[in-house]
Amino acid sequence: MLYEKERGIVLNACRQMVNDKLTVGSWGNISLRTHDNSIVITPSGTNYLKSTIDDMVVTDINGDIIEGNLKPSSEKLMHYEIYKNRNDVNAIVHTHSIYSSVLSVVDDNIPAITEDIAMLLGNNIKVSEYAITGSIELAKNVVKGLGKNNAAIMKNHGAVSVGNDMERSIVASEVLEKSAKIYIYSKIMGKINTIPDNDINKLRSISEDYLNQWKKWK
Ligand code: 13P
Ligand code: ZN
Repeated sequence: MLYEKERGIVLNACRQMVNDKLTVGSWGNISLRTHDNSIVITPSGTNYLKSTIDDMVVTDINGDIIEGNLKPSSEKLMHYEIYKNRNDVNAIVHTHSIYSSVLSVVDDNIPAITEDIAMLLGNNIKVSEYAITGSIELAKNVVKGLGKNNAAIMKNHGAVSVGNDMERSIVASEVLEKSAKIYIYSKIMGKINTIPDNDINKLRSISEDYLNQWKKWK
């Protein structure tokens, strides 16, 4: 079996996504780029809690199947388009999480309201333009919405988070969902105060140093 370790990383991330209620049913999907630019991606429309590593699909970056018995995720074009446009990204987590989906419906970006957003996700997390699921238009809109950030909200759909490895992408998904919740509650309670622009840049620059400890945290 090719990429046994990477298949396991994707499967574990799927279980975490479901257990942490970042999606329900078979929605959402996850992929990992291997050291030689192959993609291990979740199968389409399956139960992640019952999936095994054999169910994961290995493709090249253009979608040709290298190994796998099931159809790859219907959102595969979005995954490939992100990898093609972001050399720094090796893991992608697409969720249908509730609070991010609320913002996807009202079309409201999340400004830098707390330090973890600024450090891990970027500044002003955008809602990307709507396009139907699985389309190349959606894929391109998401790449545009992401820009250099590590998360974007997908209009009338859900959210996507990216990172250098799967742990960062999963934590980015958690930080995004937490931030969406804080933002919605803050708006209900009153005025939104954001981190000063100067400090957002500082937080970005200290984040790599901060995240250097990441490996020890594993
Ligand atoms: P798949 O089950 O095909 O991965 O699709 C789920 C989804 O979230 C589509 O956007
Ligand atoms: Zn989706």
